[in-house]
Amino acid sequence: MAPKLLTSAESNATLEELQQELNRLQRKVRITIQTQLASITGRSLGGLAENRELIASIQEVLEGHGLRIQCAECGHPAILRVSPRPGSSTGVFVFDHTLDGRRTFHGGGSVVPAIKLVAKPPRKKRRRAAG
Ligand SMILES: [Zn+2]
Repeated sequence: MAPKLLTSAESNATLEELQQELNRLQRKVRITIQTQLASITGRSLGGLAENRELIASIQEVLEGHGLRIQCAECGHPAILRVSPRPGSSTGVFVFDHTLDGRRTFHGGGSVVPAIKLVAKPPRKKRRRAAG
């Protein structure tokens, strides 16, 4: 018996369904993480090292799911970091991102900012200098 021929319409429909299902799951993951992280918004651990460890753990989870945190100031996808600041024992929370090709930090509050998750943008291909 000859194998049942797969039409391109069928394979396209299958892939489209798969993509839709994956998008739904990805959205659910994003909302779940965001909901959980809402409980630490507006708070801070007692010290710089502790805050850094907390944010590093969060970033690890986000990295695993291809997510970034949306900058509260400009809306670009960012990585949250804790930077030391003179006079502060806990450090400050900053959004680390590249704007117009330059590494830029926004934010700088002393507590965890509201966390809104966005998909990690695709890695930009380096363009060879033309001419
Ligand atoms: Zn920003």
